[in-house]
Amino acid sequence: MQQQTGEAPMSPYKWGMVVDTDRCTGCQACVVACQAENNVPINEESRFVEHRAKEWIRIERYWEGEYPNIKAHFLPVLCQHCANAPCEMVCPVYATYHSSDGLNVQVYNRCVGTRYCGNNCQWSVRYFNFWEPEWPEPLNSQLNPDVTVRSQGVIEKCTFCIQRINRAKREAAQAGRTVADGELQPACAQACPTDALVFGNLKDPSSRVSQLANDSRQYRLLGGLGTEPAVVYLKKVEAT
Ligand code: SF4
Repeated sequence: MQQQTGEAPMSPYKWGMVVDTDRCTGCQACVVACQAENNVPINEESRFVEHRAKEWIRIERYWEGEYPNIKAHFLPVLCQHCANAPCEMVCPVYATYHSSDGLNVQVYNRCVGTRYCGNNCQWSVRYFNFWEPEWPEPLNSQLNPDVTVRSQGVIEKCTFCIQRINRAKREAAQAGRTVADGELQPACAQACPTDALVFGNLKDPSSRVSQLANDSRQYRLLGGLGTEPAVVYLKKVEAT
C-alpha cells in the first residue's frame, strides 16, 4: 500500500550483476544477445572505425606477455548502474535518474542529446545515436516489440533488460510474491555459455548474486571513484 508520506514505498529489490572474468572466454554471445533483445542499432564497419561503436555491453581485450607466450584477458563492460551515478547529476533535463530498484534509468523522450551524461561516464557505456537507426528487411521483423526503438539524437545504454524485470515483477505481484532468485535474467546473462554473468537481487542476502558479490575475488571497476556500482567483478584466477 502507498505510504501516506507521499514517498514511494521501499522496493524489495536492488538489481545487480556479478561478472566473473575468470569464466569469460570473449565469445561475445552476450553482445549479440543484447543487440537482439534491445533493438540496438546495426553498426557498420565504416562507423565503427569512426569510433561510433554501438554495444550496450562490450568485451574489452587485454594482452599479457609476448608471442608465443601470450595470454588474452577479457573484460565485459556494461552500464554499472552506480548508486551515486555521475551521469545522473549532469543531465539538464532529468532524462537519466535512479529508480527505486537501484537502476540507472534513461528516459528517451526527455533526452535532448547534450551528451553531458556520456562525457561524465567513466566507463563510456552510454552511446549516442548519431544516425537514425535502420533495419533493412527482413531484419526489421526481428525487432523486439517490448523495447522502444530509439531515434537519432538521444543517448541509450544498458537497462539490465528492464522490460524483462518489469514483466517478472508484474507476474510475481499477481501471484502475491516477490521475484524469486534465478527467475529473471537479462539477455546477456541468459546467453552466456560459461555462466560468467550472474544477475539478481542484491537486497536478498541469499541470492546467488549477493553471495558472489561477497566473494574474496570481488572488486569494482574504477571502484575508487566512490560511485558504488551495482556491477561487481571477480578477479581472474592465475595459476601459480
Ligand atoms: S557471453 Fe559470457 S563468455 Fe562470452 S563474452 Fe559474454 S560474458 Fe564472456
